[in-house]
Amino acid sequence: MLKTKMPAIGIDLGGTKIMATTVNSEGIIDDPIKIPTPKGPENIIGQFLELIEHFKKNHIVAGIGIATAGIVDGSTGTIMGATGNVPGWTGTPVKRIIESKTLLPTYVVNDANAAVYAEAHTRKLRDLKCVVALTIGTGIGGGILVNGELLQGANWGAGHCGHVKISMDNKRLCTCGLFDCYEAYASGTGLATTAREILSNISADQSPLAKDINNLKNSDIFEAADKNDIVAKQIITLWHKHLVAGMVSIAHILNPNCFVLSGGLSKVIDYEMLFELLVDSTMPAISENVKIYRSDLGDHAGIIGAAQLILDKLAKPSA
Ligand SMILES: [Zn+2]
Repeated sequence: MLKTKMPAIGIDLGGTKIMATTVNSEGIIDDPIKIPTPKGPENIIGQFLELIEHFKKNHIVAGIGIATAGIVDGSTGTIMGATGNVPGWTGTPVKRIIESKTLLPTYVVNDANAAVYAEAHTRKLRDLKCVVALTIGTGIGGGILVNGELLQGANWGAGHCGHVKISMDNKRLCTCGLFDCYEAYASGTGLATTAREILSNISADQSPLAKDINNLKNSDIFEAADKNDIVAKQIITLWHKHLVAGMVSIAHILNPNCFVLSGGLSKVIDYEMLFELLVDSTMPAISENVKIYRSDLGDHAGIIGAAQLILDKLAKPSA
């Protein structure tokens, strides 16, 4: 029993930074440490070990949870799928190395899956039948929880919501190499592409945004819309339609209780408009009780979710 009261160390590996802290079932204990991601798997593992040693000085920890980009084999804790953001990482047996060096039980999980687990735990949504978390940033990440457990798929690849196909036009190339993925339209990158497409057909008299479309930032569009720029408002409405296009497919397949949206762009979504558009395009039986929440975990979702996963696995080894 005592073991379940102990904290775990949560580590989140991203393309630019590694974040780590101690977490118990109530949430984060120590101030998270952020450091730049070093180059190469050996240096990354070395950095993990230093962080683990640091937190072990103040706490007796039960285990280590590691959230990482890429597809992770949950049974072996090895990175299976390429992630361009962390070169050379594919094939690294993260769990085996960390366990052998620290002698602490370790669980390795995809970062979007860690995020949905954190959202469900902190919002007390674990008893719901289905929760979908979407991270709307440069790309779109997804994680799915069914009956409180992560939906992993046949080869640990479930939840790639950003790559739902939303058009047959072969118009926009996605980062995954396929065309017309949800991410290519509804992510920050997709929004910028939509804006350039629309603004390249109008004059600067119609919208000042058309003056310098090559240096246009997404924040410029939202600022212009606040000043009643009609074209900016059209771009933002179209972006909401793109956001809903993926959610409609996900809703019809999974019939979720709720969507939890995070990532930089989740702050600028008009949730009322998004909900109305979702209801308009979804079968009533599916949209009737669906909720859309905005995450309030910020960039802490990965560390909380990874740590909570190892704590839960230690408390219930069969899970
Ligand atoms: Zn794609």
